[in-house]
Amino acid sequence: MSASSDMPIFNPAFETASREQIRARQLELLKEQIQWIWDHSAYYRPKLEAIGFEPGDLKSLDDLVRLPFTDKSALRDTYPYGMFAVPMEQVIRLHASSGTTGKPIVVGYNQHDIEEWRLCIESVMQMAGVVPGDRVQMAFGYGMFTGGFGLHYGAEGLGCMIIPAGAGNTERHLMQIADYGTTVLVATPSYAMHICEVGEQQGFDWASSTLRVGLFGGEPCPPALKAEIESRMHIFCTDNYGLTEVMGPGVSGECLVSRNQQHINEDHFFWEVVDPQTGEPVGEGEIGELVLTPLQKQAFPVLRYRTHDLTRVTTEPCGCGRSTARMDKIRSRTDDMLIIRGTNFFPSQVEDVLAQIEEVSPIYRIEVDNETGLDRVTLTLELENEVFTDDWREIEKYRKMIIRRLHDVLQFNVVLKLVNPGQIERTTGKAKHVLDHRR
Ligand SMILES: [Zn+2]
Repeated sequence: MSASSDMPIFNPAFETASREQIRARQLELLKEQIQWIWDHSAYYRPKLEAIGFEPGDLKSLDDLVRLPFTDKSALRDTYPYGMFAVPMEQVIRLHASSGTTGKPIVVGYNQHDIEEWRLCIESVMQMAGVVPGDRVQMAFGYGMFTGGFGLHYGAEGLGCMIIPAGAGNTERHLMQIADYGTTVLVATPSYAMHICEVGEQQGFDWASSTLRVGLFGGEPCPPALKAEIESRMHIFCTDNYGLTEVMGPGVSGECLVSRNQQHINEDHFFWEVVDPQTGEPVGEGEIGELVLTPLQKQAFPVLRYRTHDLTRVTTEPCGCGRSTARMDKIRSRTDDMLIIRGTNFFPSQVEDVLAQIEEVSPIYRIEVDNETGLDRVTLTLELENEVFTDDWREIEKYRKMIIRRLHDVLQFNVVLKLVNPGQIERTTGKAKHVLDHRR
């Protein structure tokens, strides 16, 4: 298993073009997209008119910053069809995101959009080393969720054989991998891990299985989990990024060379990275909120969509041969960001440190207060069973070591509480592991 830079590239004319050529093509597409929105979107047209912006005013990519952002609330407020920009009889597919509160958000696609989406997925799959003739087993659910159908049509388009197994029924998945000669598994990383474990329990021989690639999505994939799956299943795993509001999966994908970064399909998405507080652009390579404008959407165009996902982007050329920009895998959301003594702080920074300390479990709780007038961060951790001891001197040794290692990354000292294994409350779904008492 090795990273290869001689894999075919899906659209070499674009993906290996110079940055100037890529920007020029983006400008061309953006002009067409703004014209489409002007002509077809009953939602955006008045908004553009209100700021005195006409399609001809877009002379360079920088002019896009004059346009307003779009937030998820706009999609909720216009539920279900208020942002559609084609007559309903031209909409051939609906998808929706699972809303944790209230109504979901609904998006639509016409024939053109479905085609473009397929191209984006084909590109992402080729980044991961998937080639025509691969046998792709789908362990995503089909349904309103964009993952299943999105990957399905991309795999077919690329010339793969799709095995539309769907979510669940792990034993059947194992049987299918063995009997059908599956080479690519599409799954959430946690379900891939589950398939791996159930297989191991049943004596499934992963080393000699035909499976070669894991194509992950649908949830964040921590590098440690990915590495674990790779070594136990003897496969190469990549993950890709997307969101229903701008299309679904297919915004960006991880290539075989730049691990933990993803090439953005820049012929379909214009990206910006902005300061989540001010909305102003940050410098290249700096962390900020990803803002996406799809460049070729007809039924559901969106301008400057605020993803609330934090990342940084580089336009340095990649060893795989692609010159398209690469974003860091999403590790945090803007809602997770805390400002501690004037500096941005992300819980993922703590997670990164904890991942390197064997003596503590990855479960943690962060509490912030300013009772003393100065921001204070209290971190509660569980010692692993093996190292848990009644000897306070031993505990104190671990405590000092952890505080020091956190300080190296955070540049401030936390108040550290070490507790018995199992003492931090487990929650299902999005864990509420950060409590900010300052608000
Ligand atoms: Zn690359």
